[in-house]
Amino acid sequence: MQTRLLINGEMVAGDGDAISVVDPATGDEITNVPEASAEQVDAAVRSSCEAFENFSRSTPAARSALLLQIADVLEQNAEELAGLESMDVGKPWPSALEDEMPLTIDTFRFFAGAARTMTGSAAGEYVEGHTSMIRRDPVGPVAAIAPWNYPLMMAAWKLAAPIAAGCTIVLKPSELTPLSTLRAAELMAGILPKGVLNVIHGRGPTIGDRLINAPETEAITVTGSPATGMAAMRAASNQIRHVHLELGGKAPVIVFDDADLEAVVDTIRAGSYFNAGQDCAQPCRIMAQTRIYDKLVAELGTAVSSIKVGAQRADGTEMGPLVSAAQRDRVAAFVDQADADCEIVAGGKPLDGAGYFYQPTVVANVGNDAEIACNEVFGPVVTISRFSDADEAVAIANRGRYGLASSVWTRDAGRSMAVSSRLRYGFTWVNTHGVGTPEMPWAAMKGSGTGCDMSVYALDAYTSVRHVMIAHA
Ligand code: NAD
Repeated sequence: MQTRLLINGEMVAGDGDAISVVDPATGDEITNVPEASAEQVDAAVRSSCEAFENFSRSTPAARSALLLQIADVLEQNAEELAGLESMDVGKPWPSALEDEMPLTIDTFRFFAGAARTMTGSAAGEYVEGHTSMIRRDPVGPVAAIAPWNYPLMMAAWKLAAPIAAGCTIVLKPSELTPLSTLRAAELMAGILPKGVLNVIHGRGPTIGDRLINAPETEAITVTGSPATGMAAMRAASNQIRHVHLELGGKAPVIVFDDADLEAVVDTIRAGSYFNAGQDCAQPCRIMAQTRIYDKLVAELGTAVSSIKVGAQRADGTEMGPLVSAAQRDRVAAFVDQADADCEIVAGGKPLDGAGYFYQPTVVANVGNDAEIACNEVFGPVVTISRFSDADEAVAIANRGRYGLASSVWTRDAGRSMAVSSRLRYGFTWVNTHGVGTPEMPWAAMKGSGTGCDMSVYALDAYTSVRHVMIAHA
C-alpha cells in the first residue's frame, strides 16, 4: 500500500509519528502512515514556491494537457483508487467506484477546458496617451486542506482548479483517510513537473497549522469544518492571504403541500443516507408544509427503515459505517439529546458490533430552532419540522448559520422561482437534490464559506486580476 508523501517530485516516507488508518466497518487497523515532520512541511512549501516560477508561466494549453493526462491515469486506476476509498471511509464499494470516481475524473477534464477560458478585458485607452490592459494571473503557491468524507473527490476539487490557473499546491488530506490521495499523488507525480504538486500527511492542529501559516504560500483553500475555516481565516489575516473556504452545511428541504411526495421520499432515501449522511449538501433538514407533513413522516419512516446497512463489500449494502468512533458518537449524541417532544420514526441507535455503524434515522416533530434542526449532524439523520407558508419557510431556512445547499419541492414553477430567489444558500435545487456537475459552482454563503469549487468561477480563488498600463510616449 502506498503510504509515502510527495515532496519536491520524490515519494518519501514521513519523518513524523505514524498515524493509524482504520477500517470503519471493523475498527481494525489497515495500515499506518507516518506524518510529515515540520521540516518536510517546509520543504514541500519551498518546492511549490520554486516550481511556481516556471509553472505560472506555462501556457493554458500545456496545463490543459497535464489535467487530461491526470484524468486518464485516474481512470486507468479507478478500481484500485475506489477500493482504497471504500476501505478507508467505509463507503459501499459500488458507490465508491460508480458514483464518485466518474465525478472525480470529470473534474480534471472540466478544468482542462476551463484552463483555456481565462481572458482579461480587451485593451483600451482610459488615460490619454496610455494603453491599459487587464491580466488574470495565477495567485501564487496554494496551501490546500481536504476533509475525510470524499477524500479523493475533494482532493480533485482542491487540485484541478489551481493547476488550471497556473498555481502550485501543497495538499494535506485528512489524517483519517489519506490512502486514496497518497496513491493518486504517486500517479500524478509521473505527470506533473517537479514541485507543482506536493502532498503531505498529518494532523490538522500541527501539520495543517504549519502549512496554512507558511509565509511563502499566497492562498489557502480549505474544505472542512467551520473550526478549520476559522483557523484558515486567522492564518490568512496574519499574513494577508487569499482564502477560499468550503465548510459545513445544513441543507433545508422545503416541501410544499403540492410536491410530488414519491419523488421527495425517493430522493431523501437515496441522498440523505448516501455516504452515511457525511455530506455537506446532505438533504437533512426537511421542512414540510402543514398538510403534507403527516403523510411525509409516515412514508419516509417506512422507506428509510428498509435501507440495508453493512460492510463495504457485503452484498446489497446501501449504507456503510460512519468514518470513526468519534463521528458515530457525535451523531448518537445529537439524537439522544433531541428534545423530548421529538419522535424517532426510523432508527435512532448505533448498531452493536465492532464497526462504527449507526441506523438510518428519521426524527420527526422537530422544532424549527431545535439544535438537531439547526446544527450540522453529518451522519445518517434527517429531521422533519413544519411550516405554514412560503414566507415562514424562507424565514426559517435563512436564519440558519449555514448557506450551502437547499432544495424546494413544489409543482408551482412560479413559487419555486420566488422561493429560490429569496434563499440565502449557495445553491438551490428545485424538485431534486444533490445533483452535481463540474460546470456549475458548488458555492458557499454565510457560515458555509467563501467562493466556490467547480465551474469557471472556482478559478477566481486562484487568480489575481492585474492592470498593466503602457505610456505611448
Ligand atoms: P475538519 O475541519 O475536522 O478537517 C478537515 C481538514 O482540516 C483535515 O485535513 C484536518 O486535518 C484539517 N485541519 C483540522 N484542523 C486544522 C487546523 N487547525 N489547521 C489546518 N488544518 C486543520 O473537517 P472534517 O471532519 O474532515 O470534514 C467534515 C466537515 O467538512 C464538515 O463540516 C463538512 O460539512 C465539511 N465539508 C464541506 C464540503 C463543502 O464543499 N462545503 C465538502 C465536504 C466536507
